Amino acid sequence: MDACFYCEKDERLDKLMIRITVLPWSIVYLNRNQNHKGRCIVAFREHRTEYFQLSPEENAGFFADVSLTAKALTNVFKPGKINYATFGDLVPHAHFHIVPKYPDGLQWGKFFGDEPKLFLDEDEYRERIQQIKAELDRLLS
Ligand SMILES: [Zn+2]
Repeated sequence: MDACFYCEKDERLDKLMIRITVLPWSIVYLNRNQNHKGRCIVAFREHRTEYFQLSPEENAGFFADVSLTAKALTNVFKPGKINYATFGDLVPHAHFHIVPKYPDGLQWGKFFGDEPKLFLDEDEYRERIQQIKAELDRLLS
């Protein structure tokens, strides 16, 4: 019931995000709430609750995946800045929120938030995922 949805990959996860691709140390998801265009989540490939539980190699690899995702989002969407956040009180599986912010856009200069939510239709999600995946593949090749 309370098992981790990043591990279970069940409907709780599907309601919030869509898988984009698998990187060497993580899985990248598009957040269904696209109130910040391109907002993604990078989840570590195994269940760990704190970064100090990762080996130095895992930490370096995971952060490289986080950085690569941020670079891909920057190349595709041209934000003014990427915001990075990791919380996990209620979902204690190591994951970063990768949130592109845009000058004069929502919450520029402030903490990003989930409200107001912005959901896309399935074609728009597909297109956004394809753009991000193509750029990640290009950066990895
Ligand atoms: Zn987990």
